Amino acid sequence: MTRIRGLIVFLVVLLAPACVWAQEPRPHAILVLDQAESRGPFYDLLFSGLRDVVVGHTHSNVTLYGENLDLSRFGGQAYEQNLKRFLHEKYQDKPIGAVVAIGGASLECALRWREELWPGIPIVFAMVDELDFARLKPPPDVTGVIVKTPLADSIRVARAVVPGLDTVAIVGDPWDRVVVFRSWVDEIATAAAGLKVITIVGEKMSDVRKRVADLPEHSAIIYSSIYSDGEGTFLLPRTAVGLIAETANRPIVVAAETFLSPGGLGGYVIVPSVIGADAAKIALRILDGERAENIPPASGGVKPIFNWEQMQRWNVSESNLPAGSEIRFREPGLWDKYRWQSITAIAVLLLQAGLIAVLLRERRKRHGAEIESRHRMSELAHVNRSATAGELSSSLAHELNQPLGSILTNAETAELILGSQSPDLDEVREILADIRRDDQRASEVIRRLRSFTKRTMFETKDVDVNELMREVFDFLSVQASARNVALYLKASPEAVRIKGDPIQLQQVIINLIVNSMDAMTAIPYGRTVIGRAELNGGKSALISISDSGPGIPVDKLAQVFDPFFTTKEQGMGIGLSIARSIIQAHQGRIWAENQTEGGAVFHLSLPLSAG
Ligand code: ADP
Repeated sequence: MTRIRGLIVFLVVLLAPACVWAQEPRPHAILVLDQAESRGPFYDLLFSGLRDVVVGHTHSNVTLYGENLDLSRFGGQAYEQNLKRFLHEKYQDKPIGAVVAIGGASLECALRWREELWPGIPIVFAMVDELDFARLKPPPDVTGVIVKTPLADSIRVARAVVPGLDTVAIVGDPWDRVVVFRSWVDEIATAAAGLKVITIVGEKMSDVRKRVADLPEHSAIIYSSIYSDGEGTFLLPRTAVGLIAETANRPIVVAAETFLSPGGLGGYVIVPSVIGADAAKIALRILDGERAENIPPASGGVKPIFNWEQMQRWNVSESNLPAGSEIRFREPGLWDKYRWQSITAIAVLLLQAGLIAVLLRERRKRHGAEIESRHRMSELAHVNRSATAGELSSSLAHELNQPLGSILTNAETAELILGSQSPDLDEVREILADIRRDDQRASEVIRRLRSFTKRTMFETKDVDVNELMREVFDFLSVQASARNVALYLKASPEAVRIKGDPIQLQQVIINLIVNSMDAMTAIPYGRTVIGRAELNGGKSALISISDSGPGIPVDKLAQVFDPFFTTKEQGMGIGLSIARSIIQAHQGRIWAENQTEGGAVFHLSLPLSAG
């Protein structure tokens, strides 16, 4: 038995601490008693901060009731009695889990009515300053958020924003009427030590506006709140700060978030939504079973916040503000204003730059490839020319033999003349002139052969097409007569000027003429090659080489330009393919046709030179 008793005692001791902080969940309803009237922006924000937290409460649905007691404008015993009766009747069938009292006056009423209206129901307070908290001495099951807005904070801000501050003007309602700033009156002596203090308290709005227009240079206005214009009209404190800002010649340090936009510079401001949210969080903890006694009152809901527009007006730099300050109403910079447009423009520019870079790289690569291919083509053309020179060697030998033979004959004749009794020197002179002419002819043959077989890189010059063809026809004349071929050149009556590499272009024409001569070997007579140069309506240069040979089978007309296509026993099949490469490198075209009267004709079309 004693053992069982001992066990019970043990369990009670073990569970005791839990019982201290946990109790049965309360009815899920909160009644908010707001000391303000319903239309003020400050209390609106406070209530919505509170409601947002209650609505977002995930565990269960909580009913929110709200009553605006309007205690700043109405008071007295009768009013209070009526309110109490009204609330009693209204809520007698509505179980309440927690009462939230907003403002010191509201808390005071709630504490007075509690026994009768909500016995044992915890009260959560918000917007109660330290003075009210100390005066009301709430019991342990009444907890909440104490709001601290010491005058010292506002003076610190004033010193930071006005260099060399020597004066502060404190503007507001009479001290007994302001809500959370009542303590300022007692603080002035310490917080404003060393400063001249002008108090503009409890004056008519018209006078306030006049006085704030004429403040000394190194001063700042510190605004508590004003609910009345002193002439019978109630104002919103926010409207009042706007009216003051209109005439003020100095910046206004404020202590509530809602005073920022109509003209307050900023300061350590009460943020009503945070106050409401904090109170709601405490109330929900209580509804969920936590004991109010275990939630000690804390302070909060005040933050340094400033108005950017006013900072510009009073030339206040961001670096002078207290650490962690938030800046509101900042005019968006160009970047913020046109963020998407800017991002799109930058993206387009980057894309464009990327494309340009790629194109430039491709162009450089293509340019490199072009140089490389021209180089290869020049090499191949050289091989082709050497082969052609080999083919032409017999006629070249013949061409050289002729002047060399006549030089020999002339030299022998001159020797004989000089060996005679009375040598005819005039005749010797003539013979020597002949020798010189023949020698020049021989060296011309060698020069042409040399230049033809020279290994050259592609180079562009001004080329006269008539002259170019004349040189080729001269060069091949001996070979042609050796092969019984009649060569005719029909030059253009007008000058035909192109830009190109003369040696490579000559090579093309030589290849075509040699091919024609080759094609006509089986023809017994009438072997003819005709070369033509003409201007094609001033647009391009046209060159053609036609012959009286058998022509080209129709299905081979395009194929003849393929590398290694040949119908000749000793042929290499590269002459026409090189010709095509050379012409393409000159931005021209080459094609073959058969003439109606028989024989093949090769056409070249080349762009005229610009100048
Ligand atoms: P190859 O002369 O070494 O054969 P080419 O490329 O110069 O190489 O010529 C290719 C082929 O084109 C020749 O073998 C020939 O069959 C044909 N051909 C070229 N010119 C003529 C022409 N004037 N008449 C007939 N056939 C031709």
